[in-house]
Amino acid sequence: MFITFEGGEGVGKSTQARLLADHLRAQGHDVVLTREPGGAPGAEQIRDLLVRGDPARWEPMSEALLHIAARVDHVAKTIQPALDRGAWVISDRFRDSTLVYQGLAQGVGRERIESLHALALGSPDHPDGLLPDLTFILDLPPAEGLLRAHSRQSQIDDQQTTKASNLAEDRYERMGDAFHHALSAAFQKLAIFYPERCHLIDASGDEHQVAQIILKQIASLKTR
Ligand code: C5P
Repeated sequence: MFITFEGGEGVGKSTQARLLADHLRAQGHDVVLTREPGGAPGAEQIRDLLVRGDPARWEPMSEALLHIAARVDHVAKTIQPALDRGAWVISDRFRDSTLVYQGLAQGVGRERIESLHALALGSPDHPDGLLPDLTFILDLPPAEGLLRAHSRQSQIDDQQTTKASNLAEDRYERMGDAFHHALSAAFQKLAIFYPERCHLIDASGDEHQVAQIILKQIASLKTR
């Protein structure tokens, strides 16, 4: 089973991915918790390129191709081997982030991202490229997400992390409100584009309330 968490900045994806992994492990399942960009050694090196330095130096298409290059490694080295041995794979972001950030919010186009994903990751089993069985899109008003992301950032600053990694993490957080509203609207559209797979989750509650909503969704899908 391959599950992904998606959403804009500060919506709580990493926390929810971890809580779900903990829950499934406690039930005795083999779980691989991973993330994008990154999730494999080569892909983590590409992550450094993407999140550090001046974001404006990349053309949106270059950025999309870097995300896809990293994903090829991530799928080959981490995700596919885990799925092949029957593990649950939980990824904090996957193709839908590229579709939203580069495809919709930065204008590369949804179809082009879908085509690139199919070209890079297509196989006889998955002609459109590997896609998750289930995707939770965490939805929060952009202002609230940014507030959460900033408070996380000041905790990191307090721990005196290097300046380079601070720059990395607040990369998009420094973009204007219009960009974050476009992102949020684009993530909401995913649930309309892929209604079978994508579930929009109200992420405004505390982390345990949101985790309960997610577990209920998984239970209801299992009984279908
Ligand atoms: O989710 P996380 O904060 O780890 O993502 C790292 C950065 O990469 C974020 O600023 C995120 O918005 C950005 N990103 C992106 N395009 C993607 C995936 C992530 O610009 N396809």
